[in-house]
Amino acid sequence: MTFLADLPRLWFSSAAAPRHAGPTATRPAEGQDPTGQRRLLKGINRMALVRQLCVKPGLSRADLATCVRLTKSTVGLLVRELIAEGWLHERDCVPTGDIGRRPTPLYIDPTRLVLLGVDIGIDSTRLVATSLLGEVLGRLEIQHEAGPGAQACIGRLAASLSALHRQIGDSARQVLGIGIGLPGGVDETSGFLHFAPNLGWREVPIGALLESALAGTALAGVPLFVQNEADVAALGELEFDADGAADPLLYVSINQGVGAGVIVGDRLLIGSRGFAGEIGHTILQPGGPLCSCGRRGCAEALIGMRAMLPPPGGAAQGSRAATVASIAARLSAGDIEMLQSVAFAGNHLGTLLQNLAAAYDPACIVLGGAGVALGDRFVEPALSTLRAHCAAADLPMPTVRLSRHGADAVAMGAAALVRYRMTRPLISATSTKVFA
Ligand SMILES: [Zn+2]
Repeated sequence: MTFLADLPRLWFSSAAAPRHAGPTATRPAEGQDPTGQRRLLKGINRMALVRQLCVKPGLSRADLATCVRLTKSTVGLLVRELIAEGWLHERDCVPTGDIGRRPTPLYIDPTRLVLLGVDIGIDSTRLVATSLLGEVLGRLEIQHEAGPGAQACIGRLAASLSALHRQIGDSARQVLGIGIGLPGGVDETSGFLHFAPNLGWREVPIGALLESALAGTALAGVPLFVQNEADVAALGELEFDADGAADPLLYVSINQGVGAGVIVGDRLLIGSRGFAGEIGHTILQPGGPLCSCGRRGCAEALIGMRAMLPPPGGAAQGSRAATVASIAARLSAGDIEMLQSVAFAGNHLGTLLQNLAAAYDPACIVLGGAGVALGDRFVEPALSTLRAHCAAADLPMPTVRLSRHGADAVAMGAAALVRYRMTRPLISATSTKVFA
């Protein structure tokens, strides 16, 4: 099993790196093991080439050498390895009419390496298998049994991962890693889930349990990565955008809870203690309704789906699917109280988005989670409120869109987490996220 703690540690400043491309490394730090450092440098340089081709497909070896400031011979050797391992492939040259040998364009190979992504949700676990470019190769969903215990849930997950692996042709493709998005506080370095209030799970060694459950299968020993669900969903928008991701990018997740994944400078913002992105517990209305965190007037207590459908008669203690279904049914029936409640939550979402826009000046805000499945009756009031806040200050409206991955946003993001971590060996991680 490989957790983040086992990957090469950060020792090299990347401040001067070009956007999306990351740095290349040219010499080891003093006083460190030369063999280990050479291996690390090589790994950094290999992944710099991969990331260049993720954002600029079709570059030649000479183009790459210029972009990453390595010699052509070094790039040639590294490219040969990356082609042999399934990261890259060559395509035929396009005739240009120019005289002389034409450079061979290089691309990320979508056919040989696979990313597996898992979304352990409140009601079900979703799994996707994707190519390195985020093309979906296979998909599974398993419903949780009532009151899912962590051990049983992970056991079923391991069986489902093996089934998905067989479904996509396990002998023809190599699984690069398994990413897991969790609705709670995660220590990414150890694979430990500290608290997932909506699952009722506390202090669960997710990584160790899954490693044990996969022992003896074809997936034994595959690297595992875990992170909070909103964070991985943001990574899904970053990694799998063929047109080049907007940056800074905020992924705002609206479920029973409200959270965000924040991408700044091509990196997931974790925070000093792992709390970055806990926007559900920013206070929108001092003295407002009581939040699950103990404060009053938090965004989650005004926008989250429990706020739209409070007890009695609601599904405050029920599943996410039951909550969405109950709200949607009442909206369809023209229930005035429900329409007002959803619009009220939408308006508060607009104010939250205004605050985020002021704080981060984002290039794009992406909305996701079960809340957006309620459609325009929820989203339009949010956009209208945001538009009014912008107009009052004579500022342009930020770009806001829905997640391109829909209900698979977290599972796709978990697959993206694997690519994000494996292609950025310089980025260390920490992190504990406490709230869902
Ligand atoms: Zn709160």
